[in-house]
Amino acid sequence: MQGFVELKSMPQLLSLLVDDEGEVSVELEFALDQQKLRTVKGHATAKVKQQCQRCLEPVEVELEAEFSLAVVLNEEQAKNLPRYYDPLLVEEDVVLADLVEEELILSLPAVAYHQDCDVQLSYGEGDAQPSEQDEKPNPFSVLASLKQKR
Ligand SMILES: [Zn+2]
Repeated sequence: MQGFVELKSMPQLLSLLVDDEGEVSVELEFALDQQKLRTVKGHATAKVKQQCQRCLEPVEVELEAEFSLAVVLNEEQAKNLPRYYDPLLVEEDVVLADLVEEELILSLPAVAYHQDCDVQLSYGEGDAQPSEQDEKPNPFSVLASLKQKR
């Protein structure tokens, strides 16, 4: 199965983005494996806009989610799955778009910023850069002083 899903239909993902334009390209493959497990392998990609954490302007981020799931009906079955599957707990109808949305949220970078973000250059010329004294003490130098006390 191959198709596109509008970003607009993924409200939870959208709540983490700054723009709702775009679509997600999804490929899903359903199979019955050798252990008779029903599996869903998927791959989803999307270009989304997050807020750059340096300049606070939108930044385009390419998301890519890859997943390999096996259908389980309860926690017990989930525990017994081979490690290469994540459990897909099916209690009622599974909405595939929800599944893909969840995987994309997991693939979001914790912090987004422009690779060439130039906001750092906007420190005034006379402003001091953060000095080294503001940094945390090097844990190794702390260790060294402990050694000396012995
Ligand atoms: Zn930026």
